[in-house]
Amino acid sequence: MTRTVAVVGAGAAGLVVARELLREGLDVAVFEKSARTGGTWAYNPRADADPLGSDPASPGAVHGSLYASLRTNLPRELMGFSDFPMTGRVFAGDARAFPGHREVLAFLDAFAEESGVLERVRLRAEVLRVAPLGGHGERWAVAWRGEDGEVAEEVFDAVVVCNGHWTVPQVAKIRGMGASGMDIALEISHVAKEVHIASRYSEDRLGKVELHNNIWMHREVDCIQDDGKIRFSEGSAVAADIILYCTGYYYHFPFLDLDGLTVDDNRVGPLYKHIFPPKYAPNLSFVGLPMKTIIFQSVELESKWVAAVLSGRATLPSEEDMMAAVREHYRHMEEAGRPKRHTHVILPNWEEHMNWLADQVGEPRLEAWRLEMLEKAVRCALSLDERYRDRWEQEDNSGTSALKHSLGSK
Ligand code: FAD
Repeated sequence: MTRTVAVVGAGAAGLVVARELLREGLDVAVFEKSARTGGTWAYNPRADADPLGSDPASPGAVHGSLYASLRTNLPRELMGFSDFPMTGRVFAGDARAFPGHREVLAFLDAFAEESGVLERVRLRAEVLRVAPLGGHGERWAVAWRGEDGEVAEEVFDAVVVCNGHWTVPQVAKIRGMGASGMDIALEISHVAKEVHIASRYSEDRLGKVELHNNIWMHREVDCIQDDGKIRFSEGSAVAADIILYCTGYYYHFPFLDLDGLTVDDNRVGPLYKHIFPPKYAPNLSFVGLPMKTIIFQSVELESKWVAAVLSGRATLPSEEDMMAAVREHYRHMEEAGRPKRHTHVILPNWEEHMNWLADQVGEPRLEAWRLEMLEKAVRCALSLDERYRDRWEQEDNSGTSALKHSLGSK
């Protein structure tokens, strides 16, 4: 009998998971709580009364995590799927190497439609509870609320969680800024007298930024002093009118309450290779948790592996062996002095991780140009040079001409 799988979320991860599950002959239902597919990339200008999301229980505490002017921080070559690239085709009239968010959304719309996934998506269907039937989740009960407000329950053989992790903001605890913070700081510098960036990427470039008259780099925020000034950990202090947090988001699974699976200091665990909780594997999995990697390609490989495991084409190690691998991963992190909250940050081991996934599903290993391009894109994103995206198009990027040629790109 055909196995049934529920996918929670119809963002990039949920869409590509559904495509891979269908390819493996599984019966798929994708639950999406919003009115459209595309997840993060569906820009929504609305804000709400709880902008900091201080009440995580409030539905949709932050409606959207994109800002109006957002352009991708990775070039098109690194944002498509293996047989559905973003190169060689323009989806919403924005052919730039680093397109705006509408182009990515249109790309995902085309993917959902042309892959046949769209007809499997139930829109305005919010998953409220996912509960195992049987001690190790041999089957799963999924309770969901439809557009009419009615709550229904259905049983599936497996559930893949793809609910994203860009809605519940982290405030105050982690104090540095990442790539989005740099983008936003640059934009603000056009209207602010002074912009002071507290960043864990500041290292050797503290002080005034050469390219700009009104931007300063600092180490992380140490504290707000009694006199109201913000003190940075290198010792300097400034009086600011506005403090803008660009400090990331928490993993949050309000519909899961499972014995032995926790989110602790942003570590979702235990998870084998960031995907399978050993106790409930293979019928419960998570796709899209890794950060600081080539996200679209990573979710595609994760999806292929989950689909192959669920169809029986690939097998997982025993529960004990998976647990041992998780413990080993934690031990390595500790030895390297990496904080728990970075458990799913794949950098700097993205090559090893992606190649490991590729090996599981018989896909080709990562091409060298992709890694070079990713490393260059990350360097550019942190450079505080506003023109890097447009300049990129004029440059010959790390041997990618051959690739562009082979993809028939512009
Ligand atoms: P999401 O896109 O968040 O999708 C999750 C979906 O699950 C949503 O549609 C949500 O409504 C749904 N959902 C949640 N809970 C439920 C529920 N209970 N029931 C039903 N549905 C539910 N990546 C890049 O590759 N390049 C970039 O340049 C880039 N820039 C970014 C800039 C910003 C500001 C942000 C926030 C992210 C950026 N990313 C970028 C990362 C981006 O999030 C990923 O590209 C990708 O969109 C993640 O997809 P996802 O499916 O994992 O999550």
